[in-house]
Amino acid sequence: MASYDDNNVFAKILRGEIPCDKVYEDDHVLAFNDINPQTPTHVLVIPKGQYVSSDDFFNEASDAEIAALFRAAGKIARERGIVADGYRILANCGRDAHQEVPHFHLHIFAGCDLGIMIRPNR
Ligand code: AMP
Repeated sequence: MASYDDNNVFAKILRGEIPCDKVYEDDHVLAFNDINPQTPTHVLVIPKGQYVSSDDFFNEASDAEIAALFRAAGKIARERGIVADGYRILANCGRDAHQEVPHFHLHIFAGCDLGIMIRPNR
């Protein structure tokens, strides 16, 4: 597994070196609007700890960090009023998933018909 790159864009956001459009924060989690939204609601939920990917996070994070991330996603969905119409949560891990930023993050998509679940390049 790749080691954590301290210069990735989300690390810079967490250090306050570049701004973000924050929607939620607690001891373990930061969430902000995606800079290039794919849907009317497109929120990124990230752990404050240094985890490269879902593989890293799921295997190395504490139970408290994992619980906090999913609780935060649930709170954000309710606060944004997207539960009734529905939403999609997605995490890209590694090359085949086209993960661009090597700091684990959940995407929350909502606000329109989200279409088919996935369109793979076979
Ligand atoms: P992924 O391909 O899963 O790694 O997704 C990375 C996401 O980060 C993309 O949806 C980008 O639009 C988003 N992104 C990149 N830089 C920023 C930034 N400075 N603020 C908010 N979102 C960003």
